[in-house]
Amino acid sequence: MNDYAVGVDLGGTKVATALVRRDGLVVDQIIEPTQKEKGFENVIDRMGASIRAMLERTDSPVAGIGVGAAGSTDSQQGVVVAASNLGWENVPLREMLYERIGDEWRERIWVDKDTNAAVLGEMMYGAGRGSEHIFYVTVGTGIGGGMILDGSIYHGASDGASDFGHLVLDPDGIVCGCGKRGCVETLASGVAIARMAREALNVPDSTTILSELDPGLITAHDVAVAAKNGDQLAKDIITQAGYWLGRALAYYVDLNNPERIIIGGGVMGAGDLLLEPVRQTTYKFALPNNAAAAQILPAGLGADSGVIGAAAFVWQHHKESTQKYQEAT
Ligand SMILES: [Zn+2]
Repeated sequence: MNDYAVGVDLGGTKVATALVRRDGLVVDQIIEPTQKEKGFENVIDRMGASIRAMLERTDSPVAGIGVGAAGSTDSQQGVVVAASNLGWENVPLREMLYERIGDEWRERIWVDKDTNAAVLGEMMYGAGRGSEHIFYVTVGTGIGGGMILDGSIYHGASDGASDFGHLVLDPDGIVCGCGKRGCVETLASGVAIARMAREALNVPDSTTILSELDPGLITAHDVAVAAKNGDQLAKDIITQAGYWLGRALAYYVDLNNPERIIIGGGVMGAGDLLLEPVRQTTYKFALPNNAAAAQILPAGLGADSGVIGAAAFVWQHHKESTQKYQEAT
């Protein structure tokens, strides 16, 4: 068994390509701006060059290449189906990569969405270790999810599972980027938190330190920092976002009976100010037995979580093919 994999984290602003040891250690890494305006072929050319550089810089055999992509993917075909922050639609990423790095990689490249990379990385190396029933939620500009059921990523019939950000909680609410109204994403994302702060500042209030900022430029990060400094308005906004996350998570808890719910993404910079209302609301609205089984934790992997999780696709695939082989013989 080879002990290294290449993990690629393909995002709208940067692409990180790393050589990752099987125990999750990042041995080598190249990070560069995505420069999506140059077009997908240019981005994939540079991804191919970075992957080749990783393969050349090690003497050890590399088991495979995993790519976690921002957006929705067809994980069977290795296609990025729609990625709004890349501006990609139906890009056959796996095929275009092995065309660039060599045909011998054809069967050893796996493409899946970045939140599935995140949940797998957390299961193998982070806050999900020791559990096989995990739901990961990222709360950043948008909100996404990834689920592990009985030890494996669950994709659903058309790779649409875990679209947690678009569960509707308020049918009369604000229009979401997806076209529906009142999705979780419109109520608890970084964008939603910034919007709530702007709206609150429309009412003159000299007691909040947020009123010292330009309302047009206010970010979720500003709100989190103010909340940590004890600002009541900022704390109320983070609590409200946590409440809506908890309302949605309670449905997940009763549907799938997870053992761990792991929350990552930029808004988790608010720490317990976000986690506590999430816990309270989830436990309040879920059935007691299911609530008692579900631990709600911050993500355990840091800045390298994207590449570590993407490399883990390789190990997950090895595990599944070994199981199939054992069942067949
Ligand atoms: Zn939506």
